[in-house]
Amino acid sequence: MTTTVGANWAGSYHYRAAGLARPASVEELQELVAGSAHVRALGSRHSFSDLADTDGVLVELTGLPSGIRVDAEAGTVSVAGGVRYGELAEQLEREGWALANLASLPHISVAGAVATGTHGSGAHNRSLAAAVAALDVVGPDGDLRRVRRGDADFDGSVVSLGAMGIVTRLELDVEPTYRVRQEVRTGLAWEVVEARFHDIAGAGYSVSLFTRFDDEGVAQLWVKSRADEPPLADAFGTLAAGATMHMIRGGAVEAVTGQGGEPGPWLDRLPHFRMGFTPSAGAELQSEYFVPREHAVAGIEALRSLSSTIGPLLEVAEIRTVAADEQWLSGAGGQDVVAFHFTWVRDEPAVRAVVRLIESALAPFGVRPHWGKVFELDAAALAETFPRLPDFVALRDRVDPDRVFGNAFLERVLP
Ligand SMILES: Cc1cc2nc3c(=O)[nH]c(=O)nc-3n(C[C@H](O)[C@H](O)[C@H](O)COP(=O)(O)OP(=O)(O)OC[C@H]3O[C@@H](n4cnc5c(N)ncnc54)[C@H](O)[C@@H]3O)c2cc1C
Repeated sequence: MTTTVGANWAGSYHYRAAGLARPASVEELQELVAGSAHVRALGSRHSFSDLADTDGVLVELTGLPSGIRVDAEAGTVSVAGGVRYGELAEQLEREGWALANLASLPHISVAGAVATGTHGSGAHNRSLAAAVAALDVVGPDGDLRRVRRGDADFDGSVVSLGAMGIVTRLELDVEPTYRVRQEVRTGLAWEVVEARFHDIAGAGYSVSLFTRFDDEGVAQLWVKSRADEPPLADAFGTLAAGATMHMIRGGAVEAVTGQGGEPGPWLDRLPHFRMGFTPSAGAELQSEYFVPREHAVAGIEALRSLSSTIGPLLEVAEIRTVAADEQWLSGAGGQDVVAFHFTWVRDEPAVRAVVRLIESALAPFGVRPHWGKVFELDAAALAETFPRLPDFVALRDRVDPDRVFGNAFLERVLP
């Protein structure tokens, strides 16, 4: 075990844990957990807060074999929790399989991503957690248990914030591989967005609108359509991008996945960013908020009214849609949502001040935060918009009565 844990991916948070362990087997992990007063799992460190941290030991699962195994009959793949989506996707593609969706980057670990309700986009696409069919979890006594879709505890166990134990393996739904084309359009006017938001969000398998919420409107519209579906039929008054575009001004275009409408494998088009390159900006912060889909246009109007305050701190904002899932703590739990994402410059005090304004502006719509990003909403506000939060707390109290997997973040956000 080493004592220096270091920082998160963005360099914005330095973990305070007493040490970092990398067990080489599940048995070693079980022994470590059983002998620890406080312990939590660390994924690929792409969250922006103290969410993963503990005053005990942090555990990385990168020492466990990835053991990626497809069960063609069940339509699932079994994968170790510490594996990154990029590695899993490549193995699936080699065997002729695919996942239904991916986040904007393939660099994140599977267990860490689903623990925070990570999602991609698509009017009919659910969060990555919705693809989870089963989990193997090491509990506070070091016992290994399996939680399956359909079990009473399952809907509180996937988007878990790491509070239910350490996930060693997951089974995810897979489907036969497919190809996707990605088209980038420019110059989408606010009037068109406000009149036709749902048509635009449904114009492809996965649609993203990049904006600064200023008078320029939506500077870039990224539409990812499955190759077996018709390409974009309606241009919504936009123009085709003349060259490959990064959504952040000055961003390296080598880092983004193939554009221009040429069909390619799902894993090379659904994420915005390519493995092996720095995604997004790098030294940055992010926030993201979910509101029920019917409030999309009102939410956009509320955010446009803040554009001059938001602008100086903003690298870019992205509007996506996520279909409802069953997970109690998912941003899209029980409701179809629109997601408002913000990539900020790395100035945390200034960002936190602006984030409070955004939360107030979106409060009338029942705003929920992305658990892995920067937010200020407190336990009382969260209890209002996550109606299953009491069930989650009851499950945590039963599974982990001594709060072996507890931390300061959970103390702050749970009632
Ligand atoms: C550049 C960038 C782009 C992003 N794009 C998106 C996006 O498109 N969509 C989106 O929704 N989010 C996005 N995010 C946010 C990111 O997906 C989440 O923060 C995600 O949780 C990060 O996963 P991780 O493996 O880095 O987890 P970490 O940040 O390391 O940990 C997150 C949580 O998961 C828990 N955890 C990790 N491993 C385990 C385990 N084995 N068992 C139990 N709990 C575990 C940790 O304890 C912690 O509570 C992005 C982040 C960055 C930096």
